[in-house]
Amino acid sequence: MPPTLPFFAPLLGLAGAIIGSFLATITVRWPEGRSVLRGRSTCDGCGRRLRAWQLVPLVSWIASRGRCTACGARIDPRHPLIEGGCLVIGVISGVAAPGMVAVAGAVFGWLLLTLAVLDARDFWLPDPLVAALALTGAAGAAFAPPALLDRIAGGLGGFLALWLIAAAYRRVRGRDGLGGGDPKLLGAIGLWLGWRLLPATLVIAGMAGIGWIVARRLRGGAVAADDMLPLGTLLAIAAYPAWLAMIINGV
Ligand SMILES: [Zn+2]
Repeated sequence: MPPTLPFFAPLLGLAGAIIGSFLATITVRWPEGRSVLRGRSTCDGCGRRLRAWQLVPLVSWIASRGRCTACGARIDPRHPLIEGGCLVIGVISGVAAPGMVAVAGAVFGWLLLTLAVLDARDFWLPDPLVAALALTGAAGAAFAPPALLDRIAGGLGGFLALWLIAAAYRRVRGRDGLGGGDPKLLGAIGLWLGWRLLPATLVIAGMAGIGWIVARRLRGGAVAADDMLPLGTLLAIAAYPAWLAMIINGV
């Protein structure tokens, strides 16, 4: 393993906060059909142009106590959540792996977090984002484990496994049990992790789902069958720890 510069992990964290600021804007505006290309340059509440300091990820949110300084509207919590989440993912990836492997892991985590938030709130896994996850996964074979063949088997296996379950469910119950994007997402995750880690990813996703239900119950909330986190969110939450375990253990 080549030595890593001491400031590499913080640098990747900083990149995460900046990229997270853009990704958060995507999750807020894309489901509403608003333009996402110009970044977070205006307030979501009053449309007022943000000043330079208000564009600084996280810091601006803390300094303005989570509200727009002009209209007082609450800044959507997805902004600090994704900016902070991408920062943490960047730092963890930089600590866990050297060089390009760390950059790849951070990209994986940033895309997964964005998809997790979109699916949790809007039950939507946009094809372009899932395609970006799949393409970067296939490209990652050039400089990081697992090997390309493992990844292709993971991509096909992940997609087919959920696609078959969805088809069987539709046949038996006469309605859709899985979202249409779920098989594509597990296929894209398979292209990152390879087929060997797919069962572990599904187990972690299941545990995350059970943990979510238990947390709801402990807070006194009622839990209905259709109340669970979307499968796409659970898969996305599970896939990054699976990648970390693979990198740290050198699987
Ligand atoms: Zn405002």
